Amino acid sequence: FLLYLFYLVSPIGQIIQSLTQIQNGLAAVTRIQEIAMLRTEPAAAPVARAGGEPVGVTFSGVVFRYGEDRPVVHHDVTFEVPAGGMTALVGPSGAGKSTVFGLIERFYEPQEGAITVGGRDIRDWPLGELRAMLGYVEQDAPVLAGTFRENLVFGAPGATDEEVARALARTRLDDLVERLPEGLETPVGHRGILLSGGERQRVAIARALLRRPRLLLLDEATSQLDAVNEMRLREVVAEVARETTVLVIAHRLSTVTGADRIVVMEAGRVRAWGTHDELVAADALYRELAATQFLVSS
Ligand code: ADP
Ligand code: MG
Repeated sequence: FLLYLFYLVSPIGQIIQSLTQIQNGLAAVTRIQEIAMLRTEPAAAPVARAGGEPVGVTFSGVVFRYGEDRPVVHHDVTFEVPAGGMTALVGPSGAGKSTVFGLIERFYEPQEGAITVGGRDIRDWPLGELRAMLGYVEQDAPVLAGTFRENLVFGAPGATDEEVARALARTRLDDLVERLPEGLETPVGHRGILLSGGERQRVAIARALLRRPRLLLLDEATSQLDAVNEMRLREVVAEVARETTVLVIAHRLSTVTGADRIVVMEAGRVRAWGTHDELVAADALYRELAATQFLVSS
């Protein structure tokens, strides 16, 4: 497992940026470790690859703090994500968006209220089954040490070449892989080719898709993407949302306008929801975020 320690791709000298990336990387290591631990638990039967119909999510009156002596992060979070399609979660930094993901994955338990996935209280799902249904793509996704192929099939043991090819096509990475000297066997990360922020996130989406998630949780990359990469990512997410449920923490106006519905969070509460046009008409905070292309929030 140690072979899979992350390599953080970052230009030398950008120490501050690296520190943030290390934090993100450590969070990812924790998650991967959790997955790895699940796999070694004999009781946690059907592993990583769920498959099946898209599932929805509901939060009802969720109250949450990270610890007894910690401030309340979710005061009262209530929203519904129907099965299928794309729902965007937006709001200023610190609103509690990423915490929503942590709760869905059951890394934490709410102190009050209830969360359902697929119409069932998440406490009633065996943890292994719950997590098998979820695909999680984190912000500024790290690349694993190893080859392109290893990066894709991590977490999806038994994925066939055909499935890998399909995941590459769906994430528009097929052209890139074709141009690599050793194709899928080309090493990536700091020992191999360096991928841009947009490419790294697409690799992470491809990795998640190979696990056949019934709900994809996507924390959109905040790093600036060039126009082509941004367009590709947008296409990829829209396409994935035709096959599974996508809940995306959106930082870009272009993502939000493509969403079927949008949930606006602020300071631990859901303050509004609706379509882009509805929210522009009805919600001042949303209007403000939209006017700045969401670039002020993370
Ligand atoms: P957002 O994603 O909307 O920026 P977060 O859900 O990350 O918001 O954070 C909401 C609040 O919870 C912030 O005040 C943040 O500092 C706090 N927080 C987030 N993660 C943790 C954690 N693991 N432990 C303690 N506090 C946390
Ligand atoms: Mg966040």
